[in-house]
Amino acid sequence: MNPQLDEDRRTTGPNPSDAPRLSLSVVVPCANEEEVLLETHRQLTAALAQLSLTFEILYVDDGSTDSTPGILRQLQLGHDRVKVLRLSRNFGHQVAITAGMTYAGGDAVVVIDADLQDPPEVIAEFVKSWREGYDVAYGVRTERQGENAFKRGTAKLFYKIIGWLSNTDIPADTGDFRLMDRKVVNALLSMEEHDRFIRGMVSWLGFSQLAIPYRRKSRLAGKTKYPLVKMIRFAIDAILSFSTIPLKVATGFGFLASGMAVVGILLAFY
Ligand code: UDP
Ligand code: MG
Repeated sequence: MNPQLDEDRRTTGPNPSDAPRLSLSVVVPCANEEEVLLETHRQLTAALAQLSLTFEILYVDDGSTDSTPGILRQLQLGHDRVKVLRLSRNFGHQVAITAGMTYAGGDAVVVIDADLQDPPEVIAEFVKSWREGYDVAYGVRTERQGENAFKRGTAKLFYKIIGWLSNTDIPADTGDFRLMDRKVVNALLSMEEHDRFIRGMVSWLGFSQLAIPYRRKSRLAGKTKYPLVKMIRFAIDAILSFSTIPLKVATGFGFLASGMAVVGILLAFY
């Protein structure tokens, strides 16, 4: 980020006269989202038009096999501010977000799901915090509409386990719905982790971060792209990336097993 720009924003606060100089990129990962995309685009554009800054929307098509690519092409042809990135196959949510961030040119980047579970109006609150000087503004879900008790329970358990095992303080009830300043985006992109757990990586990076509570809505249409198996894989990746305890436990068991084998051999000789 331009240090002068950064300095201006911090010292002058929400000054409308310098606001238009700031630009925002909004990254939207999309995997088979044909049912919602047009409405998402309408609501997102309406919310962004309220903010006094320039913006671009970067849709990342994560190997969709429905009519998502066609819809995105239409949006791109009809709107200057729309960019579309099409991945060669389905790589998963975290890779899609990372790819989008790589091509984002804004002074800050917002990540938002394509299914309108994250309300676009909350972006205004993120931007307000950013203008006040925070480097990250992240959404915390105070309510999770349309999620069954199982999904809520497993999410709670996941944050408990990662809280016990990891030295990084990863806030509970968050997702990737957040705004990150350019310097956070650059730092995140410089990390070459293969299995990425972006919300954890952003916490690990430090910088000034503010929690913004919001009500997470139900998916507008379509089905979740996170079935149980994918969710468990994601949780395991996150825990393994953010804690060495599983590795230490595995090593401990390895030593124990070899110790017992040696004792067994000695006993057999005896
Ligand atoms: N998504 C993606 N690639 C995937 C799975 C999901 O880009 O492999 C996108 C999806 O289109 C949505 C967001 O990631 O915009 C979150 O997915 P979803 O709503 O299915 O997850 P849930 O909210 O049910 O946890
Ligand atoms: Mg969703």
